[in-house]
Amino acid sequence: MELDVRQRAMLEEMGIRVWLPQEATPGFPAGSIDASPSTPPPGGWPASAGAAVVARPTAGLRESQSTSAPVSVLVSRAVPSSAPRALPADIAAMGWDDLQQAVAGCQACGLCKSRKNTVFGVGHQQARWLVVGEAPGENEDIQGEPFVGQAGKLLDNMLKALGLSRTSDDGAQAVYIANVLKCRPPGNRNPAPEEVLQCEPYLRRQVALLQPTIILALGRFAVQSILQHSVPDVASLPLGRLRGQVHSYEGVPVVVSYHPAYLLRTPQDKAKAWDDLCLAQSVMMEATAG
Ligand code: URA
Repeated sequence: MELDVRQRAMLEEMGIRVWLPQEATPGFPAGSIDASPSTPPPGGWPASAGAAVVARPTAGLRESQSTSAPVSVLVSRAVPSSAPRALPADIAAMGWDDLQQAVAGCQACGLCKSRKNTVFGVGHQQARWLVVGEAPGENEDIQGEPFVGQAGKLLDNMLKALGLSRTSDDGAQAVYIANVLKCRPPGNRNPAPEEVLQCEPYLRRQVALLQPTIILALGRFAVQSILQHSVPDVASLPLGRLRGQVHSYEGVPVVVSYHPAYLLRTPQDKAKAWDDLCLAQSVMMEATAG
């Protein structure tokens, strides 16, 4: 991953130190970034409890993105903790437009009473990257777009450092951004389990339509929601325990990271977030190599 001047500036804006290794590391050539102490070593990531090095996940990849190259990243063991409910047949049959309309008219939970707008998602419908956040905040509720406040600016800068953008119309550089909840919880309170349950089918259908190569799940609630069927007792695990592995959601590789709003409050963890982006990028590079 080569970094140009703009990307370096972005990383510096994020508070991430850029250094030039003397020798190239496979996948991270000289002149690239290695902003964190846990950048993957040449031999891959160390094994840890609950994780295993397995063959490159191919489910969820478009055919054109498939390769036979082995993967050298950690993939969490697929131990289903509970089976996901079947997607309601009407939602399972929807295309993008119908799905967006269904969300716009949704009254499945009480959030429909307080919302100004639903927040469906933004980005290219063939993006390879899907970023999943928790729920709209005040600005998102007003504008009907995810991550438009200060946290969104930081997210955009982080993505820019990888050459990615929510406004790109080139599938390779494009990102689609969505939330677990499509409506704002009043006062930015935490999402209630019932709200997550009602809204989850919309995200699942978005994933099925998008078929992303990688999902980046940001923050505790997004991570818990996305990994609830694959990581036993996920709600009891701190986010830090779930980082550094490649999980799976609907057959798509998932990397978890901190929520940008948390990073605004805790800038010392930005380097770890960069680490997570590098892991996601390495999964993407392996999936699209060849
Ligand atoms: N936080 C989120 O998780 N999503 C948004 O869209 C905005 C803030």
